[in-house]
Parts: sequence; C-alpha cells; structure tokens
Amino acid sequence: MSTQSEPNRPTALRTHLCGVLTSDDIGATVRLCGWVARRREHGEHLAFVDLRDHSGIVQCVIDGTVEARSEWVVAVHGTVRARPEGTVNPGLATGRIEIGDCTVEVLNEADPPPFPVDDRAEADEPVRLRHRYVDLRRPHMQRNLRLRSKVNAALRAAMARQGFVEIETPLLWAPTPEGSREFSVPSRLHHGNFYALPQSPQLAKQLLMVGGFDRYYQIARCLRDEDLRADRQFEFMQLDLECSFASQDDVMGFVSEAVLDAAEAATGERPPPIERITWADALDRFGTDKPDLRFGMELVDLTEVFAQTGVKAFSSPTTKAIVVPGGAAFPRSRLDELTDQAKRAGAAGLAWFKVVESGGAGPGPALDGPLARHLSAEETVRLLERTGAVAGDLVLVVSDRHATACTVLGTLRTAIGGPPVSEGPHRYVWVVDFPMFEEGADGRPQPAHHPFTMPYAEDLARLATDPLSVRSQAYDLVLNGWELGSGSVRIHRKEVQEQVFAALGIEQAEAERRFGFLLGAFRYGAPPHAGFAVGLDRLAAILAGEENIREVIAYPKTQSGADLLTGAPAPLPAASLAELGIRVVVPPAR
Ligand code: ASP
Repeated sequence: MSTQSEPNRPTALRTHLCGVLTSDDIGATVRLCGWVARRREHGEHLAFVDLRDHSGIVQCVIDGTVEARSEWVVAVHGTVRARPEGTVNPGLATGRIEIGDCTVEVLNEADPPPFPVDDRAEADEPVRLRHRYVDLRRPHMQRNLRLRSKVNAALRAAMARQGFVEIETPLLWAPTPEGSREFSVPSRLHHGNFYALPQSPQLAKQLLMVGGFDRYYQIARCLRDEDLRADRQFEFMQLDLECSFASQDDVMGFVSEAVLDAAEAATGERPPPIERITWADALDRFGTDKPDLRFGMELVDLTEVFAQTGVKAFSSPTTKAIVVPGGAAFPRSRLDELTDQAKRAGAAGLAWFKVVESGGAGPGPALDGPLARHLSAEETVRLLERTGAVAGDLVLVVSDRHATACTVLGTLRTAIGGPPVSEGPHRYVWVVDFPMFEEGADGRPQPAHHPFTMPYAEDLARLATDPLSVRSQAYDLVLNGWELGSGSVRIHRKEVQEQVFAALGIEQAEAERRFGFLLGAFRYGAPPHAGFAVGLDRLAAILAGEENIREVIAYPKTQSGADLLTGAPAPLPAASLAELGIRVVVPPAR
C-alpha cells in the first residue's frame, strides 16, 4: 500500500493542474485541461485563454486565433515560460508564468453559463441551485466541499486511531422515537406498510453494542421531515458513534479528539481543549443551552437586589439583567423593538435603564428610563454595583419565572451582541447535566434528549413522582452558539427503559409494539454504553466561515424542501402508485 499522497498525479488527458504551476516549472512541456475562464483575442496573431481547473487559473498564450468560448472544456498543450517584464500579475497565484506556444483542443462546447463562474458576482440562490453543476465550479464552492472532505477524512482517521469500527446501518428502518417527524417509504411487497428513513442510527447503534462491537462509528446520513432553516436540511450528515463500558467523560474525550483534529485539518490551527459548562450554568449565565462564548454580556442575577422591592414589575421569582455596552445611545424605536422581541420570547415585559452621569445630583452614575424613578436609592446603587454598568451603557431587566427570565435575556444577548456565526474565534464548549425531561405543551414530560438517555442513578427514584427534576447523563457540544451535536449515556436495562417510557406516558403495550426489538435485545446481555453524534454540515459550515449550511452541501434543498436541480419532489405516475398500493387523495385547493 502506498502511503505517499499524490493529489496531482497525472491522468490520461493532463500532465499538471493549472493553479499549481510556478517559476520552478519554466521550460516544462505541459498538457492542461479545464474550463475557459476568459478568452481575449488581439487580432489574428495573438490570443489568450485563462484556463481554470479546481486548483486555479493559468494564462495560456496562442499565436493565432482560438475557437473556444467561456466555459468550454479544453485541453491546452504548451510550454511553461516566464511572463514578459511588466505583465506579471501579482493577484494570481500563477501570475509570474504563462503557457506559451499553445495549441488548444476543444473537448466539449458549452452554452454561455447562467451566471459568471467566479466569486465576485453574486448570483441569486435559486439560479445557483438550478444550475448547481456550474455553481460548484466557483472557487468558494470548490473550497468548501474540499474542506468538508478534509474534515471527514480527519474524523475517520481519528475514530480509527481510537479503535472505532466503521459500520453502515440501514436507511430503510423502523421508526425511531427521537422526537422528529420521519420520512416514510411505502413497501411495494407489503402494501399498506412503510419503512421509516432513520432520523439517526440511534437504535441500530445501541443494538451493535449488544452485538459486541464495543466502539462503533459511521459518517451517517440522517433524515428528518422538519421545517428547513439556515442550519437545517431534511437530510444531514453526522459523525455517529457509540461505545460500551465507557463513561460520559470517555465519550467526550473521543469526540473532542476527533473534532479538534477535524478543525485543525480544516483551518491549520488546533483549537484549545474544549471547556465544559453545566446546563444550569449555561442557562444562568447565557440564557441558553447553546451558549456563544465569543462575547461577554453575561446575565446578571438581580433577584436579591429586588427581594423586598415595591416595584411590582420586579417582584417575580427571578430578576435578571444584561448590560449592553454603549447601549444608552439606542433610540426609542430600537428599545421598542427589543421590548417586542422580549415579549415574543415569552416575557411579560422588558424594563430598560440608560446609565447616565448623575449631573451633580449625587456621586456616580444614575439611571434613566420609565421605571428609574420607582427604584429606591439602594436598589439603584446595588443594580449598578451588581451589573458593573457605567455611564453610556444600557441595562435590560426581565423579571419572570426563572427559565423565562433567562431565555428571554439570552435571546436579547444574542440578538444584540452576537457576531455572525462564522466570525471570530471558534469557541467550542461541552454542555453537561441536562434535565431528563422538558415540560411539553400539554404539561406532560417530553424527553429533553431522547428516551434512551440514562438518568442519574440518584435521581431514578423521582422518575414516577417528580420527573421534571430528574437529571440525565446527556451532553451537547456547542460551537459559536450552534449546537454541533448531542449524546448521552444510554439506558441498558429493560426495567429502567420501561420506567422512562412510563414517565413519558408510553404504555407498556405500545412500547412493546414500537420498540419491542430494543427491549428484547436488552434481555440478551446489553452492556452499559454511551454515545454521541456530531452534525457535520454545521461543523463544516462554521469551519468554512459560512452562515448557511447550503454553502457546504453539494445539492441542498430550498427552504420549502424543493430540489431545484431535479424538480423533486414530483408526482408519481399512476402505474407506480398502483404498484405501491397507494391512492393519492389530492388536498382541496386552498
Ligand atoms: N441520536 C442522537 C441524535 O441524532 C445522538 C446520540 O444520542 O447519539 O441527536
């Protein structure tokens, strides 16, 4: 097996790549292949072709005319030579040389491209997606998908090095209750029955643990029929892994190593070791379980300051604040917008105080704002002390239930201070000690992660009596405010799994029908196990400096789930429907 890396190995039609030629190659006879980026003719005796392949552009000089237009595919035969004095192009990597005495062979003609194939021209996304094959030729798409390939290669290498075995699991599978809507695939052989496309290989990998593959990984395709967003597609890729006889710390160690390797492969720099925060601290300090550590503006607790207050607006169980540096200059319209945003996020209201110089009325700064004069002198002083706000700052205060006060201020903190996702340093953080359940809209517990997560042993007794207080051995990895992935120690004993199903209101008969295969497997020697999955589209997007994951996916769908390139989804011919035993009920026109 050769271990030498040969990215530029010649192939039948070419000897070199365009973009890597330098002065060292002067005198070499080369045959290059690519697309015509630009053609210029100077009369009948001199023509230039800028030839592009994925590695870059090189200038080819033809002593005559040339029969090739933009984006035609050509092979150029010629000799590398130094550019004449005064024509060196410092803006081009190959700008010191050119290919002289060229003959150009047209390999294929092309229609004019629907948009210019360079990064300077901004084409509309629908046009780009419809002609994705042309869009992919643009340098930034080439860079992004190649960066992504490096990320995958580094992850695979790290997992193999750590003793993980790559195993593929089926795409046609049974429904997995991880909380997302699944895609269903009709069975031709069993009319009226459906496969589910897996929202993750969760149960398959847990069964691999029972099967004795104690370190499994896969770069897995996951499918969820949920609304699309900038950071979410119907299908996405995860580095999925699971290991037996391992703790939460072990899993976090394996994942950290793989992710840091991938980051280093993509950016050339190894991020520092990943820090850790508990879920409760993340909520308290950043108002979210996806804390963005690139900037400050942490939440400050003022509950105690207002413990005896006469101001009704501040008498809720929790009162918290954030300080916006320089925010005293915000116009009223901006403050109204922030108030609306706070209400949309669930608060009853938002109090704001501008910090101003006291103007001789007393020592230190004073507060200005609709509620300022209702605060006692002591409350004002302590608010300023606690928040550390100085003249020119804005203090935003929310008083509410603890979770609401935190999340509302967390939303405002990100909206006001959050840099674009891709900007600045990459701040990875582990969030640990999640609650086992969240309160659903119907007041019933819902799994905060998924129902296969192991509660803390000391909390098990409260599963039936006070489920919302039960903590789980679940952990998330967050990067710059984006959830990169999540995982947990799993339940491996049948009776604990049944207790959790019971807390979720899943009857035994139903549990048996839906996950009988899992509960059955637990009877045959299930080892303790734990795992994780890292979202690769998000990781690649951030490492590539892109706000939208569509920029790191070859063929993404639009926000409405359409594939503009192929026209999917599309109706099926009647014969195909009949074969599947499906009758379509056309919804009434809206
Ligand atoms: N299956 C989970 C997910 O897709 C990850 C895990 O728990 O391993 O989010």
